[in-house]
Amino acid sequence: MPVYEYVCQACKKPFELVRPIKENGRNATTCPKCTSRKVERRWTSIFVETSRKS
Ligand SMILES: [Zn+2]
Repeated sequence: MPVYEYVCQACKKPFELVRPIKENGRNATTCPKCTSRKVERRWTSIFVETSRKS
């Protein structure tokens, strides 16, 4: 299951969420610290690392 990294634009705190791909973009992501919806997603290298194992 992919891990998504987010950065809250309101309090500038980074946080991570693990959620199924099928739900990606459907539910509003909120900051767990200040509950702001102004969060920006950052891509991690998890997919690259996985594909390099072979
Ligand atoms: Zn926040």
